[in-house]
Amino acid sequence: MKGLVLDAKWDPKPDYKPSDWEKETGKAVTGSSIWRHPKLEVRDWPDPKAGPNDVLVAVKACGVCGSDMHFYVTDREGYILYPGLTKFPTILGHEFSGQVVEVGKEVKNLKVGDMVTVEEMQWCGRCTPCRNGFPNHCENLEELGFTIPGAFANYIAVDSKFCWKIDAIAERFGDQARAFEVGALTEPTTVSYNAMFPRAGGFKPGHFVSVFGAGSIGLAAIGLSRAAGAGKIAVFEVSPQRRELAKKVGADYVYDPREVKASEVMMELSHGEGFDFHIEAAGAPHLTVPEMEKALAVNAKVVQIGRAAQRVPMYLETFQVRGSQFFGAQGHSGNGTFPNVIRLVASGRLDLSPIITARYNLADTVDAIARSTTRTDGKIMVKPN
Ligand SMILES: [Zn+2]
Ligand SMILES: [Zn+2]
Repeated sequence: MKGLVLDAKWDPKPDYKPSDWEKETGKAVTGSSIWRHPKLEVRDWPDPKAGPNDVLVAVKACGVCGSDMHFYVTDREGYILYPGLTKFPTILGHEFSGQVVEVGKEVKNLKVGDMVTVEEMQWCGRCTPCRNGFPNHCENLEELGFTIPGAFANYIAVDSKFCWKIDAIAERFGDQARAFEVGALTEPTTVSYNAMFPRAGGFKPGHFVSVFGAGSIGLAAIGLSRAAGAGKIAVFEVSPQRRELAKKVGADYVYDPREVKASEVMMELSHGEGFDFHIEAAGAPHLTVPEMEKALAVNAKVVQIGRAAQRVPMYLETFQVRGSQFFGAQGHSGNGTFPNVIRLVASGRLDLSPIITARYNLADTVDAIARSTTRTDGKIMVKPN
C-alpha cells in the first residue's frame, strides 16, 4: 500500500542529552530536540496485518493536524518543531475514520463493514496511570502517526479497543462519504472535550467563554462551548478566514488579537466581571495567558490545550485574588469522551462540518500539509480510499 512516510535523522541538539530510555526505545520525548532534516514522501509501505485483537481499517478520511505541519516546518538548524513523543520513520496522520475490512479472531465488538473512528492515544491499560483512570498519561503510550504508523495511508491495523463506531453520525448525515469526513473530526474534537470537561470540569450554562486560537482545536472548542450553553463566546484569532469559520460554529464575537487588547475586550463584554472559562488553543500561551489573567472572573478557569515548549509569565497573585484555576490537559481517551462527542454530532447539537475547507488525494498529502502552513484553513481532509 501507499502511505505518507516521515523520515528524519536522530541527531540530538548539543544541549540535549537523550535519556537511556530514549536511546533504548528510539523514541524521542522532546522530538524537536532530536529529529533533524525531516523528509516527507508518499511511498510504498508494507501492508498492515490485523493481529488477533486488531481490525484492519480502510482509511476514508484523515485530517491534517497542526502537529503534522510541525513535522514539515523546521527551525533554522533543520530540527522539526513538534515538541512531543515521536519515533521515525513512520506514517503520519491520526485524525481519521474508515471502514473495517478485516477483523482478528478475538475481536467481538466490530464486524466487517462497520464505520469507525479511532483513538490516537494507544494506552496500555496495565500501567499505574492507566489503572488509576488516566489513560492519557499512560507510561507505555504509543501514538498513532507519531510513534507507530498512522492513517495517511490506504490501510491501518489497530486494536479494536481503540475503535468507536460512527454509524450514528452516518444516520444523521445520510451520505456515507460526508459521514466519514465528519467522523474524522471526532479526534480533534475529543482533544478539546477532554480538556474542557473531564479535565477542567466544564463551565455552567450562561458562563462567558473565551477561545484563543481558531485552528481545528479552537473551532471544536467553540462548537462545544455553544453546545454546552455558554452565555457569550469571544474568539481571538489572527486569520480572517478562521474568524469567519469561528462564527459559523458558534462564536458570538471574533477579534484579531493584534488589533484589540483581548483582556480589555473581555472586561467590556462582561461589564467588568471578567470571563469564566478561558481556552488556550493558539499554542502561544506567552501571549494569550497574560491577557486571560487580566480578565479572570471570580472562580474562573484557564485551560491549556495548545502545545508550546516555552515558559509563560504568570502573576499567580491574580489567580489567588480571583480564586481562579489553571488546567493542563493532553490527549482524549477515557471518561466517555469519544462516545459523548459522537452523540453530540449525531444529535445535530454539534456540527463542525463547515470547518472542512479543502480535500486532497493520498498522493498529494505533502501538498495538503504544505497548504496547512498558511494557517488559513479550518480542517484539510485527505481521502485515501
Ligand atoms: Zn491532531
Ligand atoms: Zn498505560
